Amino acid sequence: MSDCLFCKMATGEISPEILYEDAELLAFRDINPHAPSHFLVIPKRHIATINDLQAGDAELVGKLYLAAARVAADLGVAEAGYRTVMNCNADAGQTVFHIHLHVLAGRHLAWPPG
Ligand code: 5GP
Ligand code: ZN
Repeated sequence: MSDCLFCKMATGEISPEILYEDAELLAFRDINPHAPSHFLVIPKRHIATINDLQAGDAELVGKLYLAAARVAADLGVAEAGYRTVMNCNADAGQTVFHIHLHVLAGRHLAWPPG
């Protein structure tokens, strides 16, 4: 989608601080971090929300988590722990409508979230 911020990152039109990239995925640091390490993992293909996922996307969603774990290990935060979050629509506070897995690490994270 030409007007989607994260599609522009996937195509290289906008260049975030990239932590991992392959043919299907991109991981980059969040511009407004809520933890010492806060990065996002996105599929390069545009999918607006979790509600738009199709059965055929199951493997792709699994790969988001594999990439999250890989980058967490690269950053040295995997053993201490981290949180993954994917917000869906207004009540969860989704602001960018291209699915993205948040990964937050580097401090104790309270539970339950607000
Ligand atoms: P959401 O609220 O949709 O779950 O999360 C969107 C995330 O994208 C936010 O944490 C926000 O800080 C991040 N974000 C928004 N614009 C940019 C940007 O231009 N660059 C980067 N790296 N992150 C962004
Ligand atoms: Zn998009």
